[in-house]
Amino acid sequence: MYDHPVCGQADGCPNVTCDVQCAARRTDWGDACGVFGVFAPGQDVARITYFGLYALQHRGQESAGIAVWHPREEMQHHKGMGLCFQVFTEQILRSLQGDCAIGHVRYSTTGSSHIYNAQPMFGEGKFGPFAVAHNGNLVNAHQLHEQLEMQGPEMAGISDTAVMVALLSRSSADTLEEAIIEMMGIIKGAYSLVLLAPEKIIAVRDAHGVRPLCIGRLNGDHWVIASETCALHTIGADFIREVEPGEMIVIDKDGLSATEVLKPTRKACCIFEFIYFARPDSHIYGRSVYMSRQRMGHLLAQQAPVEADLVIPVPESGIPHAMGYAEVAKIPYGEGFIKNRYIHRTFIAPDQRLRELGVKMKLAPLKEAVRGKRLIVVDDSIVRGTTTGPEIALLREAGAREIHLRINCPPIKWGCFYGVDTSAGRSELIAARMSVEEIRQHLGADSLEYLNMKNLIAAVGLPKSNFCTACFDNQYPIPVPKELKVAKADVAPAKSAEEEKQPAPS
Ligand code: SF4
Repeated sequence: MYDHPVCGQADGCPNVTCDVQCAARRTDWGDACGVFGVFAPGQDVARITYFGLYALQHRGQESAGIAVWHPREEMQHHKGMGLCFQVFTEQILRSLQGDCAIGHVRYSTTGSSHIYNAQPMFGEGKFGPFAVAHNGNLVNAHQLHEQLEMQGPEMAGISDTAVMVALLSRSSADTLEEAIIEMMGIIKGAYSLVLLAPEKIIAVRDAHGVRPLCIGRLNGDHWVIASETCALHTIGADFIREVEPGEMIVIDKDGLSATEVLKPTRKACCIFEFIYFARPDSHIYGRSVYMSRQRMGHLLAQQAPVEADLVIPVPESGIPHAMGYAEVAKIPYGEGFIKNRYIHRTFIAPDQRLRELGVKMKLAPLKEAVRGKRLIVVDDSIVRGTTTGPEIALLREAGAREIHLRINCPPIKWGCFYGVDTSAGRSELIAARMSVEEIRQHLGADSLEYLNMKNLIAAVGLPKSNFCTACFDNQYPIPVPKELKVAKADVAPAKSAEEEKQPAPS
């Protein structure tokens, strides 16, 4: 049970017109999350979903939820704030019995971190009850929300997912499938969805396939849907194929049926999934995320060589990149940081204060390994630059002689509108305000090089036209409404107060 921090209302605050405009009613337009679904009558579907979500925990750590359909007890669910193991107990999992289930792990992008936004979310249409779990970010959610509120009744939440729930609930279609097809003609943006309805699960992917979504087979006769293939492997399912962009997959007692709802114009999978977001043991487009990251390191070593004694990663996401770099550079690879493995990804923490505190809690320099050495420090990306500066300062304090920073993607200069929390506004993106040389000075590195776009694409091994690369080159595959762009285009002329507090370059 959650007590409202301002007015003391319990979880599920019914006061949707609350004047306080507390976290429960603040906007939350989209998430980069993990979704999972399973159709397996006779199996422990809640437990399978729990393990699936556990494998997808890197995609979201703020909340987790599972909804289960049971022929007698109908739809049951449990959701809460925190990691999967904090949200679900053995007793809760045992209470969630059924034939099919969906689950969700979430981190907020622009919204509040609150139980109110935890998923799955629920609705009821002409065709009966349903639950939705969403990964992505709609670009016309604000506009649709305004229209829906004008039409009334007042919506219970303000989020992309709440908009989708309202569209489906208010549809005059006779089946959920028809309502989804109708909705896909209205919503715009990035969405990989799993839905739960009586005796079926449904998976849907936007026409560009921005966020990953795949289909697996469990024990030969059950079906699984997951954001990433790593979740299939965790529960012992075999990968069958990806959900195609624009496709709707329905899984029920008659098996799997696929419908091409939207004609894919061009695929635009988020390249950031390959650089950072997806788990390294996952495959997207049939490409190994881990091997792609190693190749990024190989190509960066060719593109930006430097003499040094040791290549170290910023753990853990920089590890495959650094190994690749060291292999081609023929420089020893080693650890320079010890990571506290029980700290969450700082990138995902919902506010700046927690992000900055997170650096020191997460990493400690290995003095014996770095003292007196010329280091090549390899990381996957620099978003705000607020964690990289302190990391370099830690290595300096530990006695590193030189620090050469190598980043495995181009400078991130533009905001993401499709569900990755690269920034609340462009002013937070360090590369939107500074040149590479200014960033180097600001962070205190002896040299700084970014992987260029040509090598990034070469590392993944597919034509650029398969990817969204908008945060690097401003080429948004799905048109972004002007008002949304304006909200993220607040380029600050000078350093923010937060960055002024960063350690000065030595
Ligand atoms: Fe991914 Fe960047 Fe495109 Fe967002 S803008 S979907 S982070 S490549």
